[in-house]
Order: sequence, then C-alpha cells, then structure tokens
Amino acid sequence: MASIITQNGYPTIKTAQFANTKFFPLEIEQINDLGLTLSALQNKFRSTDTRARKRNGTPVPRNQFLRALVYAVKTTAARTGKSPSEILTDWHIHSTNFNDYTAFQLLPPSTHRELHRKHGKRIRCTYCGELKTVSELRKAPKKDKKSYIRTCTVCHSRIRKEQRAIRAQKEVA
Ligand SMILES: [Zn+2]
Ligand SMILES: [Zn+2]
Repeated sequence: MASIITQNGYPTIKTAQFANTKFFPLEIEQINDLGLTLSALQNKFRSTDTRARKRNGTPVPRNQFLRALVYAVKTTAARTGKSPSEILTDWHIHSTNFNDYTAFQLLPPSTHRELHRKHGKRIRCTYCGELKTVSELRKAPKKDKKSYIRTCTVCHSRIRKEQRAIRAQKEVA
C-alpha cells in the first residue's frame, strides 16, 4: 500500500528498528523519568493495535511499538518544548503505512485531522456510487462529529431539489 504521507515535516518512526524484548528495569526507570508510565503507553498501544486489526493491518509487536513510541514522544517533546506526558496524551499516532503501524508519525490533532481530510479514506456514496472523501459527504446532524451520512453533498442537493419538485407538483394538482 502506498504511503499517504505528504511533506508535513514530521518524522516517520519505523518500529522495526526497535527491539521487541521485555522491558528492563532500567528502561522502565527511564520511562518514569520522562514523566511517563508504562501503563499509559500500553493504553496507547491497545487503541493503536485495535485500529490496525480493524483495518486488516499487520498487528504491531507490542514492546517494539512501545519502544518506538517512547522514542517518538521523547524526541517530539524535545523538539516542541512540551512535556512528554502532554505529547502522549494529546498528540495522535498516524499510520504512514495506511493499514498498519509499523511506520507512524506523532502529529498534533489539528494536523492529523487536516491530513485525513485531504488524503483520508474514501467512502462510497449510496446514491451515485462514487468514492468520496469525508468532506464531500453529508455530516450526520448528531453530536458525534466522526459520523457522516453515506450521501454525498452533490446527491443530497439533487435529492432535495427532486423532493421540492414533487411537493410543488402535488400542490398544483
Ligand atoms: Zn492518521
Ligand atoms: Zn453521490
């Protein structure tokens, strides 16, 4: 699968360069010194692993991913001047392999959203059958901002026009 990443200026971390062995006590100490906990990192791993499985991506070896994540958080914190725990909590893990997390970037939420708006997955409109980006689909009126109606904006306005025409005809008749 081709990478969807553009020149967004954020480094891509490849998990394969990290060991998948058990964590040494010294490593756990270093993690704690960063103000991070192994359990917070593991939570992040679990949500990432769930996403990878849903997308039929390669499941990421856990400790390999955790070491890559610590490295990514540490270097991002140093680069941005934010605290590592702030980065771990707020920033998003973005797969640069599309389906799996063997290569990822840590991105600020706004950058991540923008990236997916432009390059994200496409969904088939129920009416015209064309693949559309999320921004070309009707948003669900609910509070859930992630949900959308599988009708594209073009079909939506056409259907509205047709319905208006039918109503107008009925009124005349
Ligand atoms: Zn992403
Ligand atoms: Zn459509």
